[in-house]
Amino acid sequence: MREQTWVIIGGGQAAAVAAASLRSAGFQGRLVLIGDEQHLPYERPPLSKEVLVKPEKASLTIHPESFYAENAIECRLGVAAVGLDAEQQVVTLADGSVISFDRLLLATGARARAYPLLDHLGSGVHTVRSLDDAEQLRGHIWPGRRVLVVGGGVIGLEIAASAITMGAEVTVIERNSRLMARGAPQALADILLQLHRDNGVRFVFGAEITEAGKAGNGEINLLLASGETLSGDLVVYGIGVELNVELAVSAGLHVEDGIITNIHGQTSHPHIYAAGDVARQWNPDLQACVRHETWGNAQAQGAAVARAMVTGEPCPQEVPWYWTDQYGQNFQIAGRHTADEWLVRGDRATGKYTLLGLTDGIVTGAMTVNNGREMRPAKALIAARGRIPHGVEICNPGQDLRKLVALCA
Ligand code: FAD
Ligand code: NDP
Repeated sequence: MREQTWVIIGGGQAAAVAAASLRSAGFQGRLVLIGDEQHLPYERPPLSKEVLVKPEKASLTIHPESFYAENAIECRLGVAAVGLDAEQQVVTLADGSVISFDRLLLATGARARAYPLLDHLGSGVHTVRSLDDAEQLRGHIWPGRRVLVVGGGVIGLEIAASAITMGAEVTVIERNSRLMARGAPQALADILLQLHRDNGVRFVFGAEITEAGKAGNGEINLLLASGETLSGDLVVYGIGVELNVELAVSAGLHVEDGIITNIHGQTSHPHIYAAGDVARQWNPDLQACVRHETWGNAQAQGAAVARAMVTGEPCPQEVPWYWTDQYGQNFQIAGRHTADEWLVRGDRATGKYTLLGLTDGIVTGAMTVNNGREMRPAKALIAARGRIPHGVEICNPGQDLRKLVALCA
């Protein structure tokens, strides 16, 4: 029988995990991983944190180089897939080579959303999506540098914390009236705002940049609609992402805020799958397709879709979860971001506690502040969707959350 060729396009978290999972699930044919970055697949979370602040401590590679050889995973790195013919099941690479596939996994992720008003300034303007971006930025931050951070989302805040730690002066410019409007409950946004202010970050909310210019000495000036001008030595912006869906669109796959997939991770073409930031997968509990831009999702979905490609089993649904590290503090968020009320477990004054979001008496969301050990049981509690029984002191940190899971199930 002819050996099957399965191809993965993308060299990020979802791709690397999927490649390993295809092998562990029993796929023995030819396996090709195509990534347009020069590097072996690496972890992105450290890019806005350790890579800037403590580069010597940053551990990035997902699998060592030997792993790919030992598992017969052919890595085609530094070359983009530029064509996808779904009918003929053929991928064309930028170097002109062509690969026919029996099955294909699209794990093409996302890129930083461009901001042409700032990009036209050229040098002094940065985004952070790749290792090359982060290494380049690191060389431009030092004590006393005035850093203008545009975007008060998770990337803007992590960069702000890292720049402050490196001795810079930081101003965060946010269009919205609050931080992390897209990605975090108000309660967390408030905690982070205070933390950043305590560390000397200045915030400008409701700010629309109308003009951006650079003086002869390289100073960058941003004029706001309010009439205020903000000056700095460099700008780092994080205003969301654009999905790398061009191949999927050109191949005629169903794309709508991501590549639409079913519970098996299968796209509108039966032999093409998608996972990670770029995929919007059917969730039977929510009766909707959902997409997450988190490490946890790329990791879990990359593995689950790979298994589904081999076994045909549906992908298990995970409670959405992510973390952010700022000023050495760890914040983790799971489940829904809105709730009727947020209960505090533990003493906020200690800086180590958990917030549980209650909706109709059911735990639907959780946040841990420097208390990551409670996140796993909190996620299990959210997944159990049980009502808290009468008499159970959920706010008492002496009450083991793991036992509560059993009581609520
Ligand atoms: P990506 O990581 O985007 O990988 C896709 C890869 O495919 C890229 O290398 C891309 O260049 C390549 N590619 C795209 N198109 C092609 C093509 N046509 N041909 C070949 N290759 C192609 N999440 C958390 O939960 N916690 C964190 O603390 C956290 N920190 C982060 C910090 C930063 C700076 C960034 C950028 C992200 C962070 N995230 C974090 C988010 C998390 O890293 C992403 O959700 C995750 O990396 C998504 O993985 P992915 O494999 O789906 O996509
Ligand atoms: P987000 O979408 O999280 O945040 C972007 C922020 O920028 C929003 O608050 C948005 O406000 C604001 N914004 C948009 N346009 C402007 C503008 N013109 N002027 C000022 N502010 C503006 O994206 P990020 O860029 O922060 O993150 C990019 C990706 O990286 C995401 O996929 C994220 O998940 C990932 N990431 C994850 C991390 C983590 O989980 N710890 C860490 C770092 C990155 P508005 O609400 O008005 O649109």
